[in-house]
Amino acid sequence: VTDITADSVISEGIARHYPLCGTNLVKGVLANHHLRFQGRQQLTLFLKGIGLNIDQAMIFWQKQFTSGPGAMTIDKFQKEYRYNIRHSYGLEGARINYRPYDCRQILKHPRPAKGEYHGCPYRDFTSERLVVQLEEMGINDKQSQVEVLDQKEMGNYQNACTKVFELTHKSQMEKLAASGLGKTYKVDQTSIAHPNQYFERSRNLER
Ligand code: SF4
Repeated sequence: VTDITADSVISEGIARHYPLCGTNLVKGVLANHHLRFQGRQQLTLFLKGIGLNIDQAMIFWQKQFTSGPGAMTIDKFQKEYRYNIRHSYGLEGARINYRPYDCRQILKHPRPAKGEYHGCPYRDFTSERLVVQLEEMGINDKQSQVEVLDQKEMGNYQNACTKVFELTHKSQMEKLAASGLGKTYKVDQTSIAHPNQYFERSRNLER
């Protein structure tokens, strides 16, 4: 039984484990009842990676795209978006079971234009905007913020993301180390290289 459903993927309990790229995509779809192609691809595959099955994915996308002020009709959704989502699950066309993008692929795609939400926020956000995000994640002290921004400035986006993971999971990581269980359940301390790795690592720390 999975707790990853059309509703839970935007719930606090699940979404708090998303890396900033995932959080940003979710914000985008909730605010606009829509996401452009690159964002749709990135989020569809990320959610597939955390365990959202095709039926729940269809419910998720249809609900998000067709509810709220100015949202499209169900008919339009079915005609224009359904195929694409099924395609990402390997159920249409060449039936390739696409894998979620890793950070390298995400960084290779075209940068987001205005109104787009894909990409890596550690690269794509201005420093000012990133600081606002860091504070939303509870990273309020200036020294920590500067450490993240330094990594961004040097173009080490994955290091910035790893740093944020460490800062936001500090007490859990310390508790695990102190309990001695850290030796049994080896905490993965490699650099973040994949949004789904970030998610798994965060959820595992909670268990
Ligand atoms: Fe997402 Fe990777 Fe960027 Fe982190 S470094 S926000 S996981 S793309």
